[in-house]
Amino acid sequence: DLVLGIETSCDETGVALVRVTDDGPQLLVDAVASSVDEHARFGGIIPEVASRAHLEAIVPTLDRALAQADVDLGQVSAIAVTAGPGLVGPLTVGAAAAKALAVGLGKPLYGVNHVIGHAAVDELVHGAFPERFLALVVSGGHSSLLLVNDIATDVVELGQTLDDAAGEAFDKVGRLLGLPYPGGPHIDRLAREGTASIRFPRGLTAPKDQAAHADDFSFSGLKTAVARWVEARQDAGEEIPLPDVAASFAEAVADVLTAKTIAACRRHEVDTLVIGGGFSANSQLRAMAEERCAEAGITVRIPPIKFCTDNGAMIAALGSAAWRRGVAPSALDLPVDSSMPLTRITV
Ligand code: ATP
Ligand code: MG
Ligand code: FE
Repeated sequence: DLVLGIETSCDETGVALVRVTDDGPQLLVDAVASSVDEHARFGGIIPEVASRAHLEAIVPTLDRALAQADVDLGQVSAIAVTAGPGLVGPLTVGAAAAKALAVGLGKPLYGVNHVIGHAAVDELVHGAFPERFLALVVSGGHSSLLLVNDIATDVVELGQTLDDAAGEAFDKVGRLLGLPYPGGPHIDRLAREGTASIRFPRGLTAPKDQAAHADDFSFSGLKTAVARWVEARQDAGEEIPLPDVAASFAEAVADVLTAKTIAACRRHEVDTLVIGGGFSANSQLRAMAEERCAEAGITVRIPPIKFCTDNGAMIAALGSAAWRRGVAPSALDLPVDSSMPLTRITV
């Protein structure tokens, strides 16, 4: 059986095909068209611009995926699409395409959660998930710790960011340091040339915060601390050591994310951690998570970078998991939900 996945929640148009086998899901093709260059001109995503880019890209991207996999639409058994969270206009474009395909082909439709998809995609890379695991999903809009009992039916949100998401904090600090949008990858690159010599604060790690918010994150205080540090040097007419600021900031984010996540694995007696979402492309986080999980005896699974940022494979992966478990398909008039809660895996 083949499951088609369509992703349009933000600025990437993604179409992928997954084959459901007894050994788990196998990725056949993952086609992505990005409109990020258009948004770089504005320094952020303009929903109308993104919607139009999806409208132009959706059919060519679908055609490209089918051609690359040498698959005919008639061979598809089910269609999965991002129902939320994300931008309403972009989500609507993908949902309209998926509904048309489901009606035209007479096949079931699954509206799935984008953020859960960021964790689900790892099954395509590292094989079947264990019975219980923790997932850290870090992206432009989310930084959440999930306890996954079943990726298609049972996910508990243990904690989340109280303010900025990790990727959002990187993008804001990038702007502050005068780097192009989106700042995340630029800070990553700069940080590799610097030394983490500045001690920036680690949000929600003090004992009293730890008690109330063990599984939550906070990055806005860190962002403000970086801004103050930079302003003070500027006011004194000093040059800003950009690589060292980037390295120190990146280390603070990776430190909090890994320390809190590993503590949560211990508390919940889980020995497998999946990290996903656009920010899991971050090399400082990847290195620190690999090192500390190895020390803690936790198996850490982080997909390759092309599966960290938005793509269709994550949606096909989650859709195929729902299909395999016999989850009831979504209504053909499924609504998109810009703020779909993480407890909602399918609609
Ligand atoms: P969400 O998944 O919460 O809906 P989103 O889809 O916009 O949000 P993604 O596309 O998953 O987010 O991730 C984009 C974010 O990842 C951006 O904030 C970007 O700066 C960040 N990012 C990408 N690569 C890196 C990197 N190497 N280092 C740091 N941040 C990165
Ligand atoms: Mg994106
Ligand atoms: Fe995303």
